[in-house]
Amino acid sequence: MPYLHHVQTSIVQTIKRTTMQRRNFILNAALSLGALSLEDQRLFAAGPAGRRRAGQAEDPWKMRPLRRDVGIFTEKGGTIAWLVSKKGIVVVDAEFPEQAGHLIGELKKQSDQPFELLINTHHHGDHTAGNIAFKGLVKDVAAHGNSLANQQRVAVAQKTEDKQLYPNITYTDGWNYRIGHEHIRAYYFGPGHTNGDSIIHFQHANVAHMGDLMFNRRWAFIDRSAGASISNWIVALDKAIHTFDSGTLFVFGHAFDPEKVTGGKEDLKAMQNYLTQLQAFANQAFHAGRSKEDFVKEKAIPGVTEWQGDGIERGLQAAYEEVAASQVP
Ligand SMILES: [Zn+2]
Ligand SMILES: [Zn+2]
Repeated sequence: MPYLHHVQTSIVQTIKRTTMQRRNFILNAALSLGALSLEDQRLFAAGPAGRRRAGQAEDPWKMRPLRRDVGIFTEKGGTIAWLVSKKGIVVVDAEFPEQAGHLIGELKKQSDQPFELLINTHHHGDHTAGNIAFKGLVKDVAAHGNSLANQQRVAVAQKTEDKQLYPNITYTDGWNYRIGHEHIRAYYFGPGHTNGDSIIHFQHANVAHMGDLMFNRRWAFIDRSAGASISNWIVALDKAIHTFDSGTLFVFGHAFDPEKVTGGKEDLKAMQNYLTQLQAFANQAFHAGRSKEDFVKEKAIPGVTEWQGDGIERGLQAAYEEVAASQVP
């Protein structure tokens, strides 16, 4: 069907060139012809919220300014935060190499300033694999000492050491960094999602990147192989709730709804409730003599109504193992 293919191609090309109003008209015409591919239909059916600025319809990523010089980037992996100041650029987390490349391109469009600092909230690949895209570009890479140790351990095990850019600055309790008008502070509240999770606070903008201490309304990954602790995760969220003020805007590593990767203290409290209920559920099951194999088949957690997505069983398993490991004979 060469003719139909030609019509389809030319319609798609025309759509890409037109304004939104004209685009909608042609879209309707094209849809009635059945001439658009499924992917094009999905793209255009997304509605105003799903649409990007004119001319950016093909970009799979999203840059969203938040406050002052701070914003976020989302594509694939843990949410990235960025600061573009008159004195330089700071980035928190790096997703994967391809995504980091997209981010770097966007930031270079906004500023000629150098990339001063990259901070990793923790070592997981969806936050550090993109570090390598900053090689030779960024002056410093910072993370908690445990994050670096975890990153090195995993890279050795997976034979991906040549694909890493490791932090050259590490800290234990916390760390401070000044750039222009912004004061950045890294907090460490002990083990949670891993044993190396930092919260990165842009004090002037009052934006705090929670890393994967926050899975907003989505079943969390609890990485016991990297020293995770549900008990202390609940405490760490408590510390965050008491450290930051009511005006703090929080950035979340992950969210079930991609629009909800930012939020407030009520979201931290909801996360804390989910972890508390999960732990209580595992505790009860363990002491009732249930096996882990039986427990991980549960499809819901009592008292948890808003969490969803894939991977409930990973959390159940981690919670059960944590309770079992805490039993002193
Ligand atoms: Zn993550
Ligand atoms: Zn993670």
